[in-house]
Amino acid sequence: KRKPFVGGNWKCNGKLSGVKELLAAFKGIGADPKSVDVAIFAPTLHIPAAQDCLAGDAAIQLGVQNMSKTGEGAFTGEVSAGQVADCGLKYVLVGHSERRSLYGETDEDCAAKTKADGLTVVFCIGESLAERQSGKTTDVCEKQMKAVIPVISDWSKIVIAYEPVWAIGTGVVATPLQAQDTQYQVRRCIRDECGAEIADSVRIIYGGSANEKNCKALGELPDVDGFLVGGASLKPTFTESVPTLQ
Ligand code: 13P
Repeated sequence: KRKPFVGGNWKCNGKLSGVKELLAAFKGIGADPKSVDVAIFAPTLHIPAAQDCLAGDAAIQLGVQNMSKTGEGAFTGEVSAGQVADCGLKYVLVGHSERRSLYGETDEDCAAKTKADGLTVVFCIGESLAERQSGKTTDVCEKQMKAVIPVISDWSKIVIAYEPVWAIGTGVVATPLQAQDTQYQVRRCIRDECGAEIADSVRIIYGGSANEKNCKALGELPDVDGFLVGGASLKPTFTESVPTLQ
């Protein structure tokens, strides 16, 4: 059985004071790091405050929502993977649909970012509504996966987040059948490309209008190993988002 992974993606939300309130409310979740990994993807500017709040609490790890595809250098406005790791962070989101659709990130950009050493990458994939309606879901997810598979050298530092674009921020959560079906296909793709050992051990989590009410049914599915929660991770009830966190 794979260890569940639950991420809270705060996106570009909130003020410094809110960081402290929310993390205080989250105290104690994931209290047994052996049974669940919990990561909060806070706005980069809020990370030092979040680190202060979490000092001594190893149960909640922090991550950034994006990073540069380059190393250090003359890249105004960018933050490199090495800098993220140097600040004590463990996780980074790569390929989130908002990065792909609003900032033009390509499969090649995702591959360059996934190559980064020293961080665990939560790599996001997922189809649009039009792609699902035209039966292309598996093809789209496979294409996104195959863009990064060649650059992954350590699969223990990868988590796949299946986030159908039509479910993100819409309140329309994938049905258990849709989530299981797609995540089964993603795992099958990884098995075909990389073998059974990697496919059986990599965590594939679900994101897209996941919340404390709908996560129970989704969390019981064989190929759903946790969640990437957006809006619902900005509330104290995030702690109820996954049964293992209670
Ligand atoms: P929502 O949970 O707000 O739909 O966002 C999902 C998401 O994009 C997490 O990365």
